[in-house]
Amino acid sequence: MRHPDWNAVAAYLDGRLSPRERAGFLKHLLACRDCRRDVEELSYLRQAWELAVDAQVIERGRSLCKTPGRVTPLPAAKAHR
Ligand SMILES: [Zn+2]
Repeated sequence: MRHPDWNAVAAYLDGRLSPRERAGFLKHLLACRDCRRDVEELSYLRQAWELAVDAQVIERGRSLCKTPGRVTPLPAAKAHR
């Protein structure tokens, strides 16, 4: 049995396979436990990677939002009228 290579697995996860390639790939997955595990692992790694990238973007956005220097205080609330 010929196993799809990592490129094919990546293409499958990206949705880059043609319908025919995809059908062949899925057929192989049904029959091959090793490849199912590979797909799960790669899918998991990618999610972890994307989460890490998201976290970096959020962190960078936060540091951009921090105004350097003194923070302007909010106008005093009109209390005790
Ligand atoms: Zn296989």
